[in-house]
Amino acid sequence: MLRSTALIAAGLATGLANPSPSQAATPAVVAGDGVLCDLTRTLSGGATDVRCLIPPGADPHHFQLTPANRRDISNSELVLINGYNLNPSLSRLDGNFELIAVGERAVPNNPNKDPHLWHSPANTGAMANVVVDALQQLPINAESKQALKRRQQNVIAILRDLDTWNRQQISTIPADHRVLVSEHMAFEFFTDRYGMRHVAMIDDYATGGTLRPSSLRAISNAVKASKTKVLFPEQFPVSKTMKRISRSTGKPIAKNLVFADGTAPGKSLIETATSNTCTVVNAQGGSCDQASAERLQQRWSAVQ
Ligand SMILES: [Zn+2]
Repeated sequence: MLRSTALIAAGLATGLANPSPSQAATPAVVAGDGVLCDLTRTLSGGATDVRCLIPPGADPHHFQLTPANRRDISNSELVLINGYNLNPSLSRLDGNFELIAVGERAVPNNPNKDPHLWHSPANTGAMANVVVDALQQLPINAESKQALKRRQQNVIAILRDLDTWNRQQISTIPADHRVLVSEHMAFEFFTDRYGMRHVAMIDDYATGGTLRPSSLRAISNAVKASKTKVLFPEQFPVSKTMKRISRSTGKPIAKNLVFADGTAPGKSLIETATSNTCTVVNAQGGSCDQASAERLQQRWSAVQ
């Protein structure tokens, strides 16, 4: 009893003599776009002070930096961005920090320069390794470096299991319906990895602006030929174009969104990824195992 009181007293005295020394030494990191906010925070734990830029559910393709974002960036030692021009305003940053395009370093072989890398957990795992390598270069103590390594192993294991889980869920979809029909070219890494077909209605068949009748006909034919049961929206409210295509093909619009660019509001990377997969699987006639998705999610939130 006496001994522990003495230890507490000693701790307090140290704290008083040198107010929050560890806080002052915590390096500031900015996690830019895509899934980097959750990924970097999960990997970093308390080793660094991670500020996030683009809110979950926001569209990174058109996001403009706020003055507060610019302040966070100029106060940081490391800025992590997705790269492949996911957010154009982040590729033009200049300042006294290291800027790393995590996705470009993790997945250099990307012929279409598609920024939506995270739909393949293998890519996300490669991004986790790049993030940890960058965090290890910051001035943090040996204990924090060890903890980073431990979290990295955990995160990689969960992403590997997510990959297996995705494959199992998609195998429950009847072969004819293994297709993802969305407006934009954003799910190629997902469909390629799991042997699905992808129809990007707008990007494949239209050139922007109002849909011409000939484009609508071409899209309608492709959608019908794809044997999809539904069209998958990427945002609410659903666009007029998608409603027109739904009317002309007789294919309903799925009730749930698929998130293309990053995490959904209030959801982690794993929750968003499993919810995307379940949305596709259940709508296309498969059956998604929600309980095992929740176990993956619990493991992710327990990483520390
Ligand atoms: Zn996108």
